[in-house]
Amino acid sequence: MEKMKALVTYAPNDYRLEEVPIPSLESGEILLKTRGCGICASDIKAFHGSDRFWGPSETERYIKPPVIGGHELCGEIVDMAKDVKGFKKGNFLVTEQVVPCNECVYCKQGMYWNCQTSAVVGFKDYLCGGFAEYIKLHKYALNHKVPRSFTTEQAVLVEPIACGMHAVERAEIQHKDVVVVGGLGAIGLAMLDMVKLYLPRKIIGIDLKPNRLEIAKTYGIDAVIDVSSQNAVAEILGMTDGLGCDVYFEVSGTNAGAKQGLNVLRHMGTYVQIGAFPGEISADWNIIGDGKELNVKGSHLSALTYPSVIKGIETGLIRTDKLISHSFKLDNWEQAFDAAEKDARAMKVMIVP
Ligand SMILES: [Zn+2]
Ligand SMILES: [Zn+2]
Repeated sequence: MEKMKALVTYAPNDYRLEEVPIPSLESGEILLKTRGCGICASDIKAFHGSDRFWGPSETERYIKPPVIGGHELCGEIVDMAKDVKGFKKGNFLVTEQVVPCNECVYCKQGMYWNCQTSAVVGFKDYLCGGFAEYIKLHKYALNHKVPRSFTTEQAVLVEPIACGMHAVERAEIQHKDVVVVGGLGAIGLAMLDMVKLYLPRKIIGIDLKPNRLEIAKTYGIDAVIDVSSQNAVAEILGMTDGLGCDVYFEVSGTNAGAKQGLNVLRHMGTYVQIGAFPGEISADWNIIGDGKELNVKGSHLSALTYPSVIKGIETGLIRTDKLISHSFKLDNWEQAFDAAEKDARAMKVMIVP
């Protein structure tokens, strides 16, 4: 049996680079030769043993080890089951992070991204991820071809940007709106490009890391606020006749970001949560109801947005340059995880086999 290198998740802080068999295929399955796989914030949280993934007890565990991690993956088809339709060897593919069960109420109603099984690639033992030389795609996986012209970096960015596009869609932006994106990592920056396509009145980006603010300044938006030295609420009230913004995207996943969003929105404004917090947060909930009659919306995964993201990257309407800051070989996965977590200049960090 032929072997491949893979990073296998066993337990919190127990990930091992191993030689494992290259998966064999059954009905409906596709084998990819991996070109690259991004590290998601969720991969870092899982590595450190966050309760969201490992649960308070074994029965409440989201992760089913042993599993090969990584869902921001791309690769080329090297083999597939005879009954696979619509693809051929050599196709360059990305796959959606969630693999629908096709049986629950959400799947049956076409809202598969809220599938009750919530099976995300790289977290279940039957869904191998991209931190390996080869990837077996499940028969229910939602696969998309990307153009040959795409770089590995561009293909790796499809998944995170697709999540950002769903959040943008959730906001139902109007042309009169002042829109704020709070948190300018790879997803937040791509969201600036996608928000621009709605031609709103103003677009404002917020972050505190110098390199992110520098990149944001090249996106042709109306204002970039550095919260390490500026008060975002005061700045935005100043730009909106004291009213506040119409739409706030919380992309940072920080308590400060959530509070800032509630404080800076105008009455009847729309707050969209896409960032994932490390745990519970606190905020003045009165602002939502009695205070301002806000619309508060959540955004989960990517919801039918892959084809539009692929088109947006292909046409250049969604920029991807500078969004991948680091690339490491699988052998150096520890350095890669470290950079994703701790390097102040990190945007998206990618692992290549
Ligand atoms: Zn992700
Ligand atoms: Zn389902």
